[in-house]
Amino acid sequence: MANAAIEIIDPSFRDLVHEDATLDVLYDGCKWAEGPVWFADGNFLVWSDIPNNRMLRWVPGLGVAPFRSPSNFVNGNTRDLQGRLVSCSHGARAVLRTEWDGTITTLVDSYGGKRLNSPNDVVVKSDGTIWFTDPPYGILSDYEGYKADQEQEGCFVYRFDPKDGSLSVVADDFDRPNGLAFSPDEKTLYISDTGEESAWPTPIRQFDVDGATLRNGRVFVTIDNGASDGFRLDTAGNIWTSTWEGVNVYTPSGTLLGRIRTGAKSSNVTFGGPDRKRLFITSSQYLMTIEVQAKGIQRP
Ligand code: MG
Repeated sequence: MANAAIEIIDPSFRDLVHEDATLDVLYDGCKWAEGPVWFADGNFLVWSDIPNNRMLRWVPGLGVAPFRSPSNFVNGNTRDLQGRLVSCSHGARAVLRTEWDGTITTLVDSYGGKRLNSPNDVVVKSDGTIWFTDPPYGILSDYEGYKADQEQEGCFVYRFDPKDGSLSVVADDFDRPNGLAFSPDEKTLYISDTGEESAWPTPIRQFDVDGATLRNGRVFVTIDNGASDGFRLDTAGNIWTSTWEGVNVYTPSGTLLGRIRTGAKSSNVTFGGPDRKRLFITSSQYLMTIEVQAKGIQRP
């Protein structure tokens, strides 16, 4: 347990956090933690430890236990409208769905007859469609997947419709698209690019959502202290994104409100707890949590 290093940049950030809250380390035994997802109906959190090829579960009051091992190098996780776990697997180079009986369904693993690179992060829209990013991090080496040649001509962002099995590219001008999330009204999709270091500081871009397509892509913010691997939004539309120092929080207009410094390079965040006012942060080998005043928008 450590004192939270909350940095107030804009005074309104005080309304989103508890300045005296502690930043608690729930687990410190990962190699690289990512993909936290909250199960409100079960009161637990699942996340990925990619290099250890496993997923873990944290239950309040009980602690941490294995969830799936091997995980086939699962990275990002979310849930669909029925509450089923939807995961990006580097090993399978696929988006997977875990059915209620525990069986795992491969939703999509190819585009245009070629294998996907290594799906990274995923969100589900209120119409049930599944939107995900496909950078090559899982095929660059054997550390977070299986080293392999890239078959796709680029690193795209996709929309998959499980109703009819259709898959379409919604963005093709990213270097390495990574985190993504919708605004509360789903009129905006935010997508981060964690491309080559020479291109840093790296941006989060925003797009207007027009049915099944994206329009008017533009830079939302550039991250001043590292890269945005992943992010989630609160009910006011503020963006809580990972950085190399912890978490940065931006308003929907791009104003940096403040930071939560974790002391470690951070990857992803999600809101959870009984009222979705607990922020979970995967940060290097750690799973951390801190109570906040903002409320996450995750469904279910
Ligand atoms: Mg990611």
